Amino acid sequence: MSLYAGFDLGGTHLKYGLINEKGEVVFNDKSTTPPSMDDLIPLLRKTWETLKRRERERIAAAGFGFPGIFSLEEQKIFQSPNYPEIDNIDLIPALSRFVKVPFWVDNDANMATFGEFKRGAGQGVQSMVLLTLGTGIGSGIILEGKLWHGKCGFAGELGHVIVNPNGERCKCGSQGCLETESSAPKIVKNYKSLTKTKEDITAEDVYHRAKKGDQAARDAFAQAGFYLGIGLASTINFLNPEKILLGGAVTAAGDFLLSPALEEARRRSYKASFACCIIEKAALGNKAGFIGAASWAKEQMKK
Ligand SMILES: [Zn+2]
Repeated sequence: MSLYAGFDLGGTHLKYGLINEKGEVVFNDKSTTPPSMDDLIPLLRKTWETLKRRERERIAAAGFGFPGIFSLEEQKIFQSPNYPEIDNIDLIPALSRFVKVPFWVDNDANMATFGEFKRGAGQGVQSMVLLTLGTGIGSGIILEGKLWHGKCGFAGELGHVIVNPNGERCKCGSQGCLETESSAPKIVKNYKSLTKTKEDITAEDVYHRAKKGDQAARDAFAQAGFYLGIGLASTINFLNPEKILLGGAVTAAGDFLLSPALEEARRRSYKASFACCIIEKAALGNKAGFIGAASWAKEQMKK
């Protein structure tokens, strides 16, 4: 039985693994993401060779999810706000030197969306949006049962839709993007500005304080949730999707973030459209990206 390899490059980890013909994960692991491009290709090569050694000739194809907007025409990442090292790098020739089976490269959030659609909480739907909330905000769209790339491959960047015109400057060049208003760093920033603390804390610390009853911590999540709700309302009114899945580490904050987000989404969207959209947590956690990339490769091979 053939196997399909999937790779998902994130800001902190390279997640990778193998799925079988049924789409089941048969192996997965992760490595720390190197800070420079000089080390990234050698790491991908080492990882690929490890998988090949494990499974010999059984790997039929591979998929790679990279952060940033990926041009379908030029097969390059044009702009990666959180990993600028890979901007305009000739990924395909670099990978071709050692990957000797058919492979596909795509945006990481698109691959995670495809993973949830094929193997996670989006199975069986015809339309859905996945939002992954972490250090950044990634998203992807399934329409009419297919991954929606847009004309050049850049669709699904809900993280860079404006939810607050006077908000924070974003690495994408804009201002007040969903990513700058509702991601983990903004939750920390909200908390620091509410409490005037100079402590070195993470969004997870803010969450633990919220759980203990710290009102400023709860407000920090509520502020982020408010803008997330605006983003959700726009998505609901614009696409009328069957499902919106929320994934990423920040969703672990649960109701501290999601209650204000859903309240705002309900308030700002068409009642009927909100009512027919299921908003729920994604199912595959941080495995969605590599499962999606492997599933994408598997699907392309069948075409
Ligand atoms: Zn942006």
